[in-house]
Amino acid sequence: MSEMHPTPDELVDYLHGELPAARSAAIAAHIAGCPECADARDAEASLTNVLRAHALAQERELPPAVVSRIWEQVRSRPPSIWDRLSAALRPAIAVPVAIAIAAFLFFSIKVAHGPAHAATISAAYYVESHATLDAATPLSEDDPIPQTLANDEKTR
Ligand SMILES: [Zn+2]
Repeated sequence: MSEMHPTPDELVDYLHGELPAARSAAIAAHIAGCPECADARDAEASLTNVLRAHALAQERELPPAVVSRIWEQVRSRPPSIWDRLSAALRPAIAVPVAIAIAAFLFFSIKVAHGPAHAATISAAYYVESHATLDAATPLSEDDPIPQTLANDEKTR
């Protein structure tokens, strides 16, 4: 085979019948004698089927590799079925991403502030109750005030 392998984009165009007849025929002839390109064509064909099924089902999730592949195809091609597919897929991809970001922010704020807030409360309570304990505990003999209070208690 002296002929160059068709590029992946060319294979997609070939599968969609969007190439000039001469180029299409040349690729068909090449694929017939090139197992590598036949495999690539089969992969493209199955990807196309997956995307069609996806667009019909309006599912919300695709493997990241497939998603990046979609955008790769969308950017590198003239108006075609891919643009209609991408128009159908755009909200399906953007909405879960936005929800995931919102959920991440929500939970990370919860995690950062929830326990810290509770710890502040219990620390304040701890300090307060210790201060109370200190005030109530009879101190050493060199502090006259608790002694006086204790004596008042006894004389009552
Ligand atoms: Zn080839």
